[in-house]
Amino acid sequence: MSLGTNLLKLQELDLALERDRAALAEMPEIAELARKRRAYQKLKADETRLFAQRKDVEAILAELDGREQDCNDDIGIAQRRTDSSNYREVQQLEVDLGILAKQLDKIAFERREQTEKLDEIVRKQEYLTAYIAKFEKSVVADTRAARDKASAIKERIEAAERKREAMLAALPADASERYTAARTRFRGLAVERLEGNVPSVCRMALQESSMDELRRAEGVTECPYCHRILVTDAEDEI
Ligand SMILES: [Zn+2]
Repeated sequence: MSLGTNLLKLQELDLALERDRAALAEMPEIAELARKRRAYQKLKADETRLFAQRKDVEAILAELDGREQDCNDDIGIAQRRTDSSNYREVQQLEVDLGILAKQLDKIAFERREQTEKLDEIVRKQEYLTAYIAKFEKSVVADTRAARDKASAIKERIEAAERKREAMLAALPADASERYTAARTRFRGLAVERLEGNVPSVCRMALQESSMDELRRAEGVTECPYCHRILVTDAEDEI
């Protein structure tokens, strides 16, 4: 293979390497995963908030149970201490029982309210728990897919790096130095090939006088317009 063909192949490899490095650095899957992790944190915070709300309501319900027990105890005490033959005491008992009955009504009303609240919280918790489980599965699957994709790209990069080193080492020293310098100067597109009388990168048609000079240059020269490495004898498979 001619030197020019080798330079073009090396450039092709370097461009593919750059594309792979950029693809690895900017994998959309990674950004999507970061977004999902933030959403997951929010779901876990919602879960904690619901748990705290449930604890609060359960504490209120326990307190209502205590108050109900107290009322029932008071009813028993009032009934026991009343002398049923004493009219005034019987009247007082009726008043006391009336007050306690109202308290029990109030407790029952509050309990209905709190029980509804608790049902609502439990319903939300069940929904959230199922949702979080599904979400976790999707994050695991996405993470695995992203990791597989990343490691495939990494393997390709490592193989290309090894190949590039071998190709670079196989070039004559002056050619590899020239290529490396031109690659920096032209940001990757260091080598162009002559197609008819048109270089493949700058696309400036060469004059007949320049063409005569190139013909004497034996395969690898410099483009008179853009000063890239110009390959005039590239083999067809590139
Ligand atoms: Zn050019």
